[in-house]
Amino acid sequence: MSAPAAQTIRAAVEQVRRRVPRLDARLLMQHLLGITHAQFLADPDRRLSGEQIEAFMTLVLRRERGEPVAYLVGEKDFYSRSFKVTPAVLIPRPDTELIVTLALKRLQTLAWPRVLDLGTGSGAIAVTLACEHPEAAVLAVDVSPAALAVARENAARLGGKVGFVESDWFSALADERFDLIVANPPYVAARDPHLSQDGLPFEPDLALTDGADGLSCIRRIVAEAPAHLVPGGLLLIEHGYDQGAAVRALLAAGPFADVCTWQDLSGNDRVSGG
Ligand code: GLN
Repeated sequence: MSAPAAQTIRAAVEQVRRRVPRLDARLLMQHLLGITHAQFLADPDRRLSGEQIEAFMTLVLRRERGEPVAYLVGEKDFYSRSFKVTPAVLIPRPDTELIVTLALKRLQTLAWPRVLDLGTGSGAIAVTLACEHPEAAVLAVDVSPAALAVARENAARLGGKVGFVESDWFSALADERFDLIVANPPYVAARDPHLSQDGLPFEPDLALTDGADGLSCIRRIVAEAPAHLVPGGLLLIEHGYDQGAAVRALLAAGPFADVCTWQDLSGNDRVSGG
């Protein structure tokens, strides 16, 4: 490989403009230098050392090969907070801000609510709810100890008071009941071509797919949730854009009233509940 020609931040980012989106190049550069967006903008003529240029090019190459930028920089913004992420957890999606918004709306109507987040992953939902609504007692479960370790770090880093339990959905919870249960379970069907695209091969299968028709975890959650909700409690489940009718049918077949589906910012069915 010939020696990289770029010597300033501006030149290095310019040099890779055909290989990765500009935003990604900027995020990789900020991460490498440990600087904020404002610092990046303030000093575009800052000189880079040969090692820094080489490290930048290595990150660009990994990005070019499909690794999500969030894993390369180790963090992702969600609901105005920066969450640590590792390949042990799904990268928080803007789509998931919808379930947070709906949950907060419900929490505002309750005094000292008890909340359960099933399959918390990075803790994005649980920690955001705990930070935004400190009165809530939030419990987060995940079957993956590696995911729970990341979620715990996020709670500590962002100051959200969340309890954590290793549990396969409700299995470790005995007969505890909650005012609100939220879940963003793996809902991508095993045969969905999406699984081999858009960086998904780098994310944990455990968090993305049930290895079946995409609805098996949701079926289990809907079946077991009634035993863990107080009377009048609410279950909110995130799902695929094409699963709204199926999830509503599952809820309606159980003891759920006022079953409803909400759309995300792209106008897709994204959360159902009752
Ligand atoms: N929304 C994610 C995607 O399709 C999937 C998230 C999930 O399975 N919970 O990229």
